[in-house]
Amino acid sequence: MDCLFCKIIREEIPAKTIYEDEKVIAFNDINPQAPFHALVIPRQHISTLNDISEQDREVVGHMVMVAARLAEEQGFASDGYRAVFNCNNHGGQTVFHIHLHVLGGKAMGWPPYQAKLKSL
Ligand code: AMP
Ligand code: ZN
Repeated sequence: MDCLFCKIIREEIPAKTIYEDEKVIAFNDINPQAPFHALVIPRQHISTLNDISEQDREVVGHMVMVAARLAEEQGFASDGYRAVFNCNNHGGQTVFHIHLHVLGGKAMGWPPYQAKLKSL
């Protein structure tokens, strides 16, 4: 399948993998937006959050568990961090294989659209 993240799973494109098991892999984002920025993705191809169904409940829950475990391992769990799914155009999704962004190591602003409003 012509999907960037499926290619990473098949090791046709290199990535800095930091965690893997039978359901998911996690690797460093190529364009980090925080001192730590990883993506947790399912091994099975799911295009967007709109496409998840009952049978994906376990893998999506597992992605969240892995994100929390990575934060703990990295040492920023108690300071806090951000875990984000972007969906489709308004969500800012650019790779259409679901991924959970895990960002940590600095304080982040909220809401995410504030930066854009300030520049108007
Ligand atoms: P999104 O905009 O939510 O779809 O996020 C896609 C993310 O994938 C972005 O943060 C990109 O920096 C990241 N990305 C794109 N290509 C690669 C790659 N080859 N290896 C690692 N991360 C990537
Ligand atoms: Zn894919």
